[in-house]
Amino acid sequence: MRKVAVFCGASSGFKTIYKEKAIELGIYLATNNIAMVFGGGKIGMMGAIADAMLSKKGNVIGVIPHLLRHEEVEHDSVSKMYFSKNMSKRKIKISKMVDGYIALPGGFGTLDEIFEALTLGQLGIEVKPVGILNTEGFFDPLLLQLDKMVKEGFLRKENREMLLVSKSIPELIDAMYTYKAPIITKLVNTVGS
Ligand code: AMP
Repeated sequence: MRKVAVFCGASSGFKTIYKEKAIELGIYLATNNIAMVFGGGKIGMMGAIADAMLSKKGNVIGVIPHLLRHEEVEHDSVSKMYFSKNMSKRKIKISKMVDGYIALPGGFGTLDEIFEALTLGQLGIEVKPVGILNTEGFFDPLLLQLDKMVKEGFLRKENREMLLVSKSIPELIDAMYTYKAPIITKLVNTVGS
């Protein structure tokens, strides 16, 4: 993987561990020569990972919609910043650039971005690994929901398994390197009939 998208909160969360893990991931990516493409903000988890990478001379690429370009929000020292017309165009731009996706703890924005990546994988439009760094079990309730969706016949087991999950950064990155996308047999990915 040469470039990975990182989706994470514009907030930092209440526990310092979330930001600490974002910093750890930033340093890991920089020292392993993996560029990061992200939302282009300087606030919260986004700012923490970008600053950590930049402090280690990592390659940090932001894609920010004009709508979010306020002085308090936009990172001003990334390696490269792209501007998009809107949120949808931003996601397309990011997806064209990266070899995989990682989500860290965040809110609606983070979930929207990671689920769009999973949906593209489910339809076979992309075959890129999607991982979540499950710091302190932050995503456990969401994973339970995904299991429920399999159990209730709304999500295929092989599609559920596309989502790579780990609390360990090297383990998650290794899983992303060896990821094999499920074989898509039907474009309309229904469960059962
Ligand atoms: P959230 O998880 O709701 O905090 O939203 C964070 C995600 O949505 C990030 O991965 C960004 O791509 C995008 N996003 C939300 N708010 C902002 C912002 N103020 N500046 C830049 N990106 C943002």
